[in-house]
Amino acid sequence: MIRIQEILDKVGEYHNQEQADLVRKAYVYAAAAHSGQVRLSGEPYLSHPLAVAYTLASMRMDGHTVAAGFLHDTVEDTKVSSADIRENFGEDVAALVDGVTKISLLSFDSKEAQQAENIRKMLLAMNEDLRVIFVKLADRLHNMRTLEFMKPEKQRRISQETMDIYASLANRLGLHRIKLELEDLSFRFLHPDSYGHIAGWIERHKATDTEYIADVIRILNDVLQRNGVKAQIKGRIKQIYSIFRKMNAQNLSLDEMHDIIAFRAIVPEMKDCYAVLGLVHATWKPVPGRFKDYISMPKANMYQSLHTTVIGPKGERMEIQIRSEEMDNLAENGVASHWLYKEGGRIKARDVKEFNWLREMLDWTRLEGNSQEFMRSLRFGLFKDEIYVFTPRGKVLELPENATPVDFAYQVHTEIGDHCAGGKVNGRLVPLSTPLKSGDTVEIIAAPNHHPSRDWLKFVKTAKARTRIQNFTRTEEKERSISLGREMLEKQGRRLGINVQKAVKDGSLQKCALDLNFKDIDTLLSAVGYARITPRRALHLLLPKIEETPKEMEKADSKHPAEGSGKPAGGGKADSVVIKGIDDMLVRFAKCCNPVPGDAIIGYISRGRGVAVHTADCPTVSQMEPERLLSVYWEGGGETQPFPARIRILCKNERGVLAKIAGVMETSGVNIDSGSFRSGIDGRTELEMLIEVADIAQLLLTMDRLHKVDSVLEVSRTTASAGGEGR
Ligand code: MN
Repeated sequence: MIRIQEILDKVGEYHNQEQADLVRKAYVYAAAAHSGQVRLSGEPYLSHPLAVAYTLASMRMDGHTVAAGFLHDTVEDTKVSSADIRENFGEDVAALVDGVTKISLLSFDSKEAQQAENIRKMLLAMNEDLRVIFVKLADRLHNMRTLEFMKPEKQRRISQETMDIYASLANRLGLHRIKLELEDLSFRFLHPDSYGHIAGWIERHKATDTEYIADVIRILNDVLQRNGVKAQIKGRIKQIYSIFRKMNAQNLSLDEMHDIIAFRAIVPEMKDCYAVLGLVHATWKPVPGRFKDYISMPKANMYQSLHTTVIGPKGERMEIQIRSEEMDNLAENGVASHWLYKEGGRIKARDVKEFNWLREMLDWTRLEGNSQEFMRSLRFGLFKDEIYVFTPRGKVLELPENATPVDFAYQVHTEIGDHCAGGKVNGRLVPLSTPLKSGDTVEIIAAPNHHPSRDWLKFVKTAKARTRIQNFTRTEEKERSISLGREMLEKQGRRLGINVQKAVKDGSLQKCALDLNFKDIDTLLSAVGYARITPRRALHLLLPKIEETPKEMEKADSKHPAEGSGKPAGGGKADSVVIKGIDDMLVRFAKCCNPVPGDAIIGYISRGRGVAVHTADCPTVSQMEPERLLSVYWEGGGETQPFPARIRILCKNERGVLAKIAGVMETSGVNIDSGSFRSGIDGRTELEMLIEVADIAQLLLTMDRLHKVDSVLEVSRTTASAGGEGR
């Protein structure tokens, strides 16, 4: 257990007697409040506030923050009230304790909702006074150090939260040491096997590694001394979690990893950094592409340092960081210590440019409705490793690792993101999903009629881009569901002799919507579009007389499959629904028959899952409820998305036949998505392939060309053997 004197000594190093007195008073108060309580470890409860206050004092926090560290659990776990704290310690300390106090568990329906709400509250408190998060991080650090006394299920949940949220926050704030320890502690509980494996390996190599570290330090000190440069050299074995991440990223085993040891040179002044760098590079050969100058280009959390990798004395790669004492203090204690030192007292994140990210994150997370979405965008917002890319005008933007041109576009401006059509990286046109690298110059090609696509969600890395794309596609989909619903309802109406437009005007459809518990007509139409309710049911309630002749109506429905064909005569059949070539929430193309534009098609309204489009002659259609079939036709042109089509090829089992078939695909501009083949004993091979075509014309042309290949005996279009799929 830490002693109070150790904490007071640390506080005394940086702050006046008044602050030290406040800390002592908080200690006495907390000791009285928690007296008799014990931790799960069996230690007196006071050991926890002592550890938290000690961490805060080591981070050079002011007296108020260290006092809040002592008091942080009193309001939640003892009889002490928030008002008591205010009375005894003042507004500042009380606000900090309030910010850290967890909120009641009763008001939430799930662990996740509770977690989201706690974190949301914490972020808001941080925005008011950043010191809240330091108390919270110090609290979490000690809880993680004593996590072994918790139940396994709780260990995993807390570790996951620590990894996702707290370690990332520590990193964002430049609290490097705390971030590393939080990561290692969480990793130990989340992946005990990998942790043990790496820890064991390090233990076995300790003797050699210690010797190696001493060797390198001796050589370097010698060189620096001969050249009259002062520096303090340290060497250490890297954190277990950092090693694990590197192993995974580079797909290496522990024995193949070379840079498990890291060196650091700390010099009095910034100019000395470059002098040391020069001497290091003169002594050992630098590895090209591994030099990073974070002094001239500091990280977003204000981190500054030179990083280089050289080929060391044993011919191994060796990483060296070089920085001044001031930079080292900032790297260890973070950007807030810098602000505390300068300003003192409350740090309002919203007033400090360096903490813009916090305000932005609060903005994005506010847009998200449920707690799952909140947590997801939070994780997106708290990215761990950042890259720096340039606009064509040379402005630097900070993005998470593997961010894409779409993320970049949204970072520049929402309007640019919303109309982003293409991207150029270092002058070359690239796909929008291309991961960017530090130093890239990115230019966005925007087009006014271009809009965000749901597909972008698969690759974007920033919360901002995600939120905007989601909002856009949701609105767009809603509009489409309303117009699709209207078409479906009008079609059904005509069949039943009901004028739907009139029903809208005279208010009877509105009444029907209310009867069915929809708040208005649009909501009803949207529900029809999403197939949550059939058009028949919507109208059935509106006009009870339909019930008199149900049999006849069904007949009218069931004769449509044969008609729902290809080209609409004169701008489309009056009672057909237009299908665009887009696969989404409303319309899906059945995987059994893979219809392509130009095919005769038929729609099937699947309960709550929108319309599934099949080819008119698809065998599964005949087994479906006729009532749910919907006549549909293709909208002419415009769509460029490729469609999957399934074909079967029977050919002679001859050398080179596969190459010939692939050649035909190539010249026809058709992609092969997947394929399988079976060789028969009769010297024949049967191929089944899923290919991508633009429309029926391209498919027929390709099949015709395949026919002309010598060894090919038969070509036909086929459906998936699994059947029934896509309903
Ligand atoms: Mn606590």
